[in-house]
Amino acid sequence: MFDSAHTWFRRGAEALASTRPRSHVDLVESANRAAEELAAQSPEAELRQCVAGCTACCHFTVGVTAVEALRLAAAVSDHPDAANLRARIGKRATDDRITKHSAQDRRPCAMLQSDGRCAVYADRPLACRGWTSTDRVGCELEHRGLGGTPRPDGAAYHAVLGIAHELESLGAALLVPHLLAPDGGELRGHFELHDALHRLMQGDGDPLALRGARRPLAARRSTEASPA
Ligand code: SF4
Repeated sequence: MFDSAHTWFRRGAEALASTRPRSHVDLVESANRAAEELAAQSPEAELRQCVAGCTACCHFTVGVTAVEALRLAAAVSDHPDAANLRARIGKRATDDRITKHSAQDRRPCAMLQSDGRCAVYADRPLACRGWTSTDRVGCELEHRGLGGTPRPDGAAYHAVLGIAHELESLGAALLVPHLLAPDGGELRGHFELHDALHRLMQGDGDPLALRGARRPLAARRSTEASPA
C-alpha cells in the first residue's frame, strides 16, 4: 500500500507550486515534468503494465485545464496530420453537443490513431498521464464490459490530481490576470477535451473562447476528483 492518497496529492500540488513559470507553456511543461517525476517515485512504478497500443483508457471522458487545452491545441496545429485531427476533434465535439454525450459512453478519443497510439502523446493531458494501470487484463475486461476492474497506480494517480488542482488556478491567473474576477474565473476548473480544443481552434487560440465550454461529466478519468 502506498502512503496516503492525501500525501501524494499534496506532493503533486507542492511540486508545481514551487515552480516559477514565465508562460502557460512553461507551466504546462513543468506540470508534465512533475507528473513524470512523481510517477517514477511511486512504490508501484515497477508494477505498471501500460504499453503502446493498449487503448482501453482512451475511451473515457477526459478533463483538461485551460492551459493544457491551449498547449494541446498548439500541438494539434503542429501535427503532420493536423487537418485530419482537427476534423475529427470538430466532429466529436459537435456530435457530443447533439447527443448529450454521457460519461459512460466508451467512444475513442479523437487523438487516438488507428495504430493504437496517441497523436499528441508528448503533450497528452494530465488526466491521461495520471491514469496508469497495474492490471492490463483488468482494464481490457472492463473496457469490453466483461466485469474487470482496472487497478491504477494509486500514488501516481493522486500525485497527478494534486498537480492538476494547482495547475487549474495557476493557469487561469497566468492566462488572464486582469480578468480573474469575474470572467477569468470561468477559466478555472476542467473542460471536456474535445469541446475545449474545438472552441480554441475556432477562436484562433484565444483562451476566452473557453468560456462556457462543457465541463467533463463525472468520470473516472476526470481530474476533478478530490483526494480520498
Ligand atoms: S489524449 Fe491521447 S492518451 Fe489521452 S485519451 Fe486521447 S488518445 Fe488517449
